[in-house]
Amino acid sequence: MKTIVADLHAELVRYGLVVWTAGNVSGRIPGGDLFVIKPSGVSYDELTVENMVVCDLDGNLVEGAHSPSSDTAAHAYVYRNMPDVGGVVHTHSTYASAWAARGEAVPCVLTAMADEFGGEIPLGPFALIGDDSIGQGIVETLKGHRSKAVLMQNHGVFSIGKDPKAAVKAAVMCEDVARTVHVARQLGEPLPIPQDDIDRLYDRYQNVYGQRSPR
Ligand SMILES: [Zn+2]
Repeated sequence: MKTIVADLHAELVRYGLVVWTAGNVSGRIPGGDLFVIKPSGVSYDELTVENMVVCDLDGNLVEGAHSPSSDTAAHAYVYRNMPDVGGVVHTHSTYASAWAARGEAVPCVLTAMADEFGGEIPLGPFALIGDDSIGQGIVETLKGHRSKAVLMQNHGVFSIGKDPKAAVKAAVMCEDVARTVHVARQLGEPLPIPQDDIDRLYDRYQNVYGQRSPR
């Protein structure tokens, strides 16, 4: 899991979702109440398996020479309260954060959004770092919601997945659709997709699309 989490940070850079050290990936260690997360303040090209940090689900450091990411409390809160989540990603990606700065959910006006998010990308509350407020805001917004990404107001994106790679994919897709819908808005009012078509697209993409994995 350390290798997977360390390597996935390169995807945040590749897709232009992060600057400096402001974004992080974590992954739950299967079978243990532990997760791997980025060390605080270490640049993306210096991340290695060795400097990854292991924390328990209360965010306490269990293993590693560095202190964990300053967003560790939010990741830990999600793992404690959403047992099916195996990966969490946080970014300040530009277009998605611009929607967050305006306090507006991204409306579902693209079939790719219906596929990946099953509807809008919702807005979470304004919350300050330092306690469980960010984690609570993420969980309250995403629990029972189809979307695997939330725009935390005035802040940025948190995304979740069954594993860290799925959470990174949600972060990448979130920025992509936030950008496209923003561009569409410059030209006029984007057309909504009827709810039953959103439901059909979501169902197809989640259950039929892609290669079947062997069971
Ligand atoms: Zn942040």
